[in-house]
Order: sequence, then C-alpha cells, then structure tokens
Amino acid sequence: MGCLQSSGGKEPEELRPRDEEAEGSDEEIPRATSSGYIVPTAVDEVEVVNEEHGAHEVPVESLPAYWTNRRVHGEASGKLCQHFDQMVCVSEAGRQAIRELVRGTYRPLVTQDRPCPKEPACPKTPAGCPCVKPDGTPGLPTEYVVRRVIRVEDSEMWTRYAQKRSQIRERRAHRMPLRGLEPELFTSQVVATNPGSYDSLDTGLNEVYLWHGTHVRTGLAIAQHDFNLEFAGSGAGGMLGSGIYFAESCTKADEYATDEPGGYYEGIFGMLLCRVTMGSMHSTWFYTTQRRADAAEQVESGKFDSTVGDRMKFHNTFREFVVYDSDQVYPEYVVLYSRAYKADDAAALQLEASRNPFHLQLPVYWNNFHANPDSDVFRVQYKVREQTRALLQHLVTGSFLHPAAWFCYYLLYVVVVCLLLLLLFIVLKCCCCLCFIWFLLLFVFYLFIILKCVVVCLC
Ligand SMILES: [Zn+2]
Repeated sequence: MGCLQSSGGKEPEELRPRDEEAEGSDEEIPRATSSGYIVPTAVDEVEVVNEEHGAHEVPVESLPAYWTNRRVHGEASGKLCQHFDQMVCVSEAGRQAIRELVRGTYRPLVTQDRPCPKEPACPKTPAGCPCVKPDGTPGLPTEYVVRRVIRVEDSEMWTRYAQKRSQIRERRAHRMPLRGLEPELFTSQVVATNPGSYDSLDTGLNEVYLWHGTHVRTGLAIAQHDFNLEFAGSGAGGMLGSGIYFAESCTKADEYATDEPGGYYEGIFGMLLCRVTMGSMHSTWFYTTQRRADAAEQVESGKFDSTVGDRMKFHNTFREFVVYDSDQVYPEYVVLYSRAYKADDAAALQLEASRNPFHLQLPVYWNNFHANPDSDVFRVQYKVREQTRALLQHLVTGSFLHPAAWFCYYLLYVVVVCLLLLLLFIVLKCCCCLCFIWFLLLFVFYLFIILKCVVVCLC
C-alpha cells in the first residue's frame, strides 16, 4: 500500500534549501552553470530506482482485454505478462465512453455536502446553500466537461484487487449470487454497452464501477500509489465510518472534487472511476446529519463486506457506497474535467475539449506526475525497464541517417545551388567584381561542407 502524503509532499533531506552562512562552506551548494543547469555536487545523493526491481508476472487472461499492457505486450509474450505500472492517456474514443458515463450518471440534485463557491462561504445548509441550487448563481454545474482521461495499468495493484475479490467470492460462496442493488446502479447500463472501455464485472459478487471525487492532485496520487485508508473518510465527513466513499452519480462525487486555485490545475477537477467489489452489502438509510459509525464494525465482524448508505429512498438524494479495505478497490480511470454552468456555452466547451485535450503539468509517465514541482521537490533517476529501452532503441534506429546519405544530400544541394548560380550568370552576363567575390565565397563555403562530409564518412 503506497502512502499518498509521503510520496507527494516529502522533501528529501539532501534537497532542502541550505543556509550558506550557517554551513560556512560553499562546497555543498549545487552550482548553477551559465547554461542554467544545476550541477549536483558529491553530497547530492540522487535516488536511483530500478523499474524492474521486484518484477513479477501476471496471467494475461486476468487483465482487462482493452488494457495496453495486455494488448501490446501481454498477447505477444504468451500466458504471462511482465510487471507493469503505467498511466495510459486514453484516446478520443475512450474519452467518449467516459463522457457517456458522466452524462448517464448526472443528476440535478444538491446536498449539504456541496461547498458554497462564494467568499465568504455560506454556512452548511441542508439541501445546499442558495448559490449551488440549480436556480442559484453560479448554480449547480449543468454539465461536466471531460478534459483528459488516464487509465491506470498497474499489475501489482491489480493483483491485490483480484486476490481480494477471490477471497470474498470464496467467503460468500454459499450465498452466491449475492443480493444486488435496487434500483439498479446508475453506472450499469453504460458500462454494459461499452466493452471497449469497461471490463465485464462479477455482478453476482456486486462488483461495480463507482465514482470517487477528490482534490485533483490527490486523485493523481491515488492512481499512482493506491488509496490510503489513513486519510479515508475525512473528505466525506465519515458518516458511515472510516472507509473509502464512492458515489454512483458523478454529481455526488463532484461535491468532494476540488481544483487548485492559483495553481496549474485551477478550474480542473478530478474524479476517479473505480472498480469496487462490494460483496455482501450492509444497507442502511440515514438522515442527513445522522452518523452510522458502527457501519464499519458490521464489516469488521465479517457479516458484511461493505456498506450502502441510502439517502435516495427517503430523501431523494444519493446513495453512498463505502468499503473499508483498499484492496477492494481498483482506481482504473482518472477523469480530469471542468464544470460548465448555466451561463456557459456547454456545447462549445465540450467541442473544444474533444479537439484539444488538457495537458498535465508533468509527463504522465513520470512516477512523480502528481507532484507539484513548485513545492514538492523530487530528484530520482530510473533505470528503465526493458520495454522502454527497446522503445528508445527503436527511436534511435528510426532517426539514424547513414553518413553516406548525408554526403549525397549535401552533394546534391551544392550541385543544385552551383547550377542555379551559373544559370544566373549566363542570364545576367554579369562579370562585376562583387558578383565574382560572392560566387567565390559560396564556392569556398560549399567546398568546406563537402570536405566535412568526406571526413565524417572516413571517420
Ligand atoms: Zn452559498
């Protein structure tokens, strides 16, 4: 289990700003060269991580069919797929499937958990403050504009999830299929009709796709390091105990999603679309302010595997879903989106987003891609895995031009230019000194290039 905070916020000891006066020596201070690069001195220990360290193999058939690591690497390598931990930027077709799910799970409902966007903010109000009601200003977002979708392909996290699912299946074997949800989950239909983006689910075990709204960088960190139960429940108020909270409606998840005011992700919100094994569900309904902290104990006792808090039945708002073990969750997609309000031209925003997907602050294939480079210092070098080396080799081979080809290219260039100049002289019949000097200079210049090419060829 990865730790969200230590990965993103920790500042390595050796990289903290140093006080020159206090240390009395400039030997330990990184030196800036004229080119602007920082040259690490001997005391700067750079962590070197081997990406293939602790590598294990995963059965290919256990992976979702549309995952890149199964399609590209797994099918070629046979029954077992090498360890992988990658963020894959989803294509426009995949984003379309996510948009469909967002539209299908949107409900124009407000609860007290939706924060007031104004300054100063209104106090917490049952059924939401006037500013976030559909007829308020700015009101409830009328649409969510999907800006970027990242699929999490992590063999270790996937293996933990699959093992936990098998354990629950064995534990509940005598009661299979388990009692399902009524009414049907909001996500069910869209998921069932898009096999290219959503895997088939074990419905007998109440395996479902659910939304989890959070701070945009926290969402990226969860994708990289998994959920951390130490901080779970805090965002949702923990009405059903200390667990990981999910919603079937993107509107509900959006209540807990926050952007980064003044930062790179200002106006960009994050939601995770997770595969969750709910197993045997403890169903409970509660008033808005009623806590059911004993819900976790019901699961710990082994009676149930998860809790459903149903405010839909009696309050016409939302159902919430809680699990208390992070291995019951696989955060498969990170959805970065912006909110469109009734004053916005939502159709234009959607069109623009589909044409120009949002770019993350750091490359998505960096392990620290969730970090804020302005505040979270990191300095790590990676010995890349074999597949990355092969890809780089492919790039080098593809961009390599043989010296003989260079020579031919320059020769052709020189011949063409000389012929053009000759033609110019013939046409103009110009024999002035200036033209002669100009011609001589060009001739010497091209002679130099030819000689250089010959040297390159010989060496
Ligand atoms: Zn308000």
